[in-house]
Amino acid sequence: MLSQKMQDALNAQINAELWSAYLYLSMSMDASVKGYKGIANWFAIQFKEEQDHAQIFMDYVLARGGQVKLAPIAEVQTEWETPAAMFNDTLTHERKVTAMIDNLCRIADEEKDFATANKLIWFVNEQVEEEENARDILDQLHMVDGSKMGTYMIDRELGTRVYTAPAVAAE
Ligand code: MG
Repeated sequence: MLSQKMQDALNAQINAELWSAYLYLSMSMDASVKGYKGIANWFAIQFKEEQDHAQIFMDYVLARGGQVKLAPIAEVQTEWETPAAMFNDTLTHERKVTAMIDNLCRIADEEKDFATANKLIWFVNEQVEEEENARDILDQLHMVDGSKMGTYMIDRELGTRVYTAPAVAAE
């Protein structure tokens, strides 16, 4: 059985993952409106991935005989000044999520909950990737420094991203 403390923390994480999904959906919509089809595609996939993260946690809580409690999802920003501002917010947000996952690891450790600690390893690794991806794109946007041609090339590149379901979901 999950301890109450562990279950509450996992439920808070489920809400955070759904909030992340909502944030990236909002970014996708804003990019779309502004004609950045590739960036819109990149964030639409990000939106799906965050829903996958929430699903993995929900499945896990249920597998442990726990109860999933879905709380309201807070409002998200709807407009960004530039693509760089969008990816800057993405990186800042992912760093926050990393700190939350680290905190879950700490709680699992305190509660001597080895199954949860083991489940969290996938998320620890996933966060390294999430931060790296956001940082790479932000670096590219800084390199072109707002040039229309450069931004166009990056947008085209981000349009090639395809969605793949996370391997952990198949476990
Ligand atoms: Mg996530």
